[in-house]
Amino acid sequence: MKILVPVKRVVDYNVKVRVKSDGSGVELAGVKMAINPFDEISIEEAVRMKEAGIATEVVAVSCGTAAAQETLRAALAMGADRGILVETDIELQPLAVGKLLKAVVERESPQLVICGKQAIDDDANQTGQILAALMGWGQATFASKVVVDGAVIRVTREIDGGLETLELPLPAVVTADLRLNEPRYATLPNIMKAKKKPLDVLPAASLGVDISPRLRQGRHSEPPARKAGIKVADVADLIQKLRNDAKVI
Ligand code: AMP
Repeated sequence: MKILVPVKRVVDYNVKVRVKSDGSGVELAGVKMAINPFDEISIEEAVRMKEAGIATEVVAVSCGTAAAQETLRAALAMGADRGILVETDIELQPLAVGKLLKAVVERESPQLVICGKQAIDDDANQTGQILAALMGWGQATFASKVVVDGAVIRVTREIDGGLETLELPLPAVVTADLRLNEPRYATLPNIMKAKKKPLDVLPAASLGVDISPRLRQGRHSEPPARKAGIKVADVADLIQKLRNDAKVI
């Protein structure tokens, strides 16, 4: 079984994001970028399936500028077998990524696509769902457990009332939630090995899909500063404040 894992290059989660002074977007100049954390979880899950003999190949794919090659190398260092960069300088929105991924899926014919549940930059939480719809495949989002059983996949999801388990025929799209696994750190030898793994570059224009942006971003602004907290004198004071002053926001 071949598994395709889409990985996005995003601002590193440790970076304090700053809005550009003219409010036109987020400052990216000189900012540390990294693989989207949910995509690390997807790669980890796919690599574990390969180690367990369930998957035969793990292909990481990223859509974006040439700089996303670095993101693919991070996925290769974690154990993906090869990478595909769908290269474009056009700003990509989830619909465009979904269309590009569909074109890659049609070329690669994976049995399973594992996306992250969301990218931590735009928090869109749309791409996996769009890809499943475009392909006409089943989808199981926010997976906290994934079991492949022959031609079906059973996916456990954390929902408000507890756990829900879905059974889908393959091929299917799964999106990874935080508790699916704990991704491994890439070791130095594996980082070195990753430099030699195959990485194909496909110009997005060669895939024949319309990736022009459909959404226009309005103004960006910093969130309002939080008010300072208060100190309570003792437990009685705390209870009194919780009873009388605390408000559900
Ligand atoms: P989003 O819908 O933007 O929140 O992203 C959800 C997931 O879709 C991510 O975790 C990735 O697995 C995938 N994805 C989004 N954008 C890209 C991209 N430019 N290249 C590859 N995968 C992407």
